[in-house]
Amino acid sequence: MSVEWTKEMAELVGPERLLLGFDQVDKLSKDYYWYSPVLEPLLRDKRAEAVVVPESEEQVAQVLAFAWREGIPVTTRGAGTGNYGQAVPLEGGIVLDLSGLDRVLEIGDEEARVQAGVRLGALEKQLRETGKELRIYPSTFMKATVGGFVCGGSGGIGSITWGNLWDGNVTEAVIYTMEEAPRRIVVRGSELPAYIHNYGTNGVLTELAIPIARRTEWRQTVAQFDGFEACCRFAHAVALDDAIRKRLVAPVEWPIPSFFKPIVKRLESGSAACLLETADGSEQALAAHAEAAGGRIGYTIPSDQYRKTIGLSDFTWNHTTLWALKADPSYTYLQAGFHPTDFLRQIRLIKAEYGDEVLMHLEFIRSAGVVVPASLPVVRYTTRERLYEIIAFFRSNGVGINDPHTWTLEMGGRGELEAMLAAKRANDPRGLLNPGKLQIPVGER
Ligand SMILES: Cc1cc2nc3c(=O)[nH]c(=O)nc-3n(C[C@H](O)[C@H](O)[C@H](O)COP(=O)(O)OP(=O)(O)OC[C@H]3O[C@@H](n4cnc5c(N)ncnc54)[C@H](O)[C@@H]3O)c2cc1C
Repeated sequence: MSVEWTKEMAELVGPERLLLGFDQVDKLSKDYYWYSPVLEPLLRDKRAEAVVVPESEEQVAQVLAFAWREGIPVTTRGAGTGNYGQAVPLEGGIVLDLSGLDRVLEIGDEEARVQAGVRLGALEKQLRETGKELRIYPSTFMKATVGGFVCGGSGGIGSITWGNLWDGNVTEAVIYTMEEAPRRIVVRGSELPAYIHNYGTNGVLTELAIPIARRTEWRQTVAQFDGFEACCRFAHAVALDDAIRKRLVAPVEWPIPSFFKPIVKRLESGSAACLLETADGSEQALAAHAEAAGGRIGYTIPSDQYRKTIGLSDFTWNHTTLWALKADPSYTYLQAGFHPTDFLRQIRLIKAEYGDEVLMHLEFIRSAGVVVPASLPVVRYTTRERLYEIIAFFRSNGVGINDPHTWTLEMGGRGELEAMLAAKRANDPRGLLNPGKLQIPVGER
């Protein structure tokens, strides 16, 4: 490590905002890449040379200008809860930890304006106190930052009503470029997709405006079914029923519910479960849908207990994988997109081929207006070859896969690659922002 640049950096941001201790730097160079047994050995030893924790936009700009001058890579970090090593610095340099930019700037009727390091959980709490709430958030919301969600996530709780990040769930972003004199650009509308799920490769987001919803009183319900198909039919019917206001529709097959240790005693042994967040007053409609699909309503958490006990969303999205990993470290996962209406046939084919090697977990979302079963199937890992065989089988049966076992946007991303590359050419001509995650084609460098 160049002692010289760390001395200069300390003068620039103040010694308290520059972390150099091995353990601290090591910890802040990691995210949840270890969910992938493919990525774990490859990223285990990657670390930055220093972590900088700016307290203002001005400091962000100063750090970027300094890094540009010295040719030092910069990897931005929110809370480091991403799953594919997005926030892991592949080429050392600086981890730019934005957790110090944590001010909620404005809460309006339709929109909240925040600094990028604001935690989604803190924002949701503040919004609900004013009669509003987030539209969408990941199951890691207590830790995850708004900037990290926009740059590393996709959707989550709320996506059954509001879609994912690309469905109008970001209205404006303030971005700093990596140049001699970093520019502050304000991006809206059709320019935004270049910065959504971009892993911070083409700019550092310091401020965001996101649309918000009116507060709803959420009741949490588990509906139980003898088989997974019935559970899916129920989930699909609820997902399509516009009379039910909802935030979460997540069917999982047995034995996945047996991994949910804190609530397992409240769940039926051997049954498939659909985890739901629906508005108060939806009880009868849910019971009718459950009965029609041959199931029954089980464990419920009334709305006055919302956020006061462990919530059902703590067992959904990629938290489902976390509980599976806790139960048995040989599990890993995939990110899949099933056909909006033909998904049961696709699931049957997969189960016939792989049995319990692939355990089904769907998350219904409404994307571009269409209700679709997104999915994070839990997969028993044996070898990389076998994992990619399973991926190929999914794809050959029309099930889309966003590969979570790669750190590159080219291989695993889900955003608009061309737009991201154009923004990278314009904003990061030296390729210093999170290098290795999005490459400007060789001939152009
Ligand atoms: C148990 C578990 C459950 C999860 N559930 C979900 C889920 O429901 N939905 C979902 O979408 N994801 C989920 N994730 C992934 C992840 O938690 C979320 O995407 C989360 O929003 C990331 O936020 P973060 O602040 O931790 O970002 P980080 O992990 O710190 O960063 C994510 C990426 O964005 C970049 N970045 C961060 N901040 C900025 C910034 N201000 N400017 C530019 N680049 C930036 C980083 O360099 C990195 O590439 C889950 C992960 C785990 C471990």
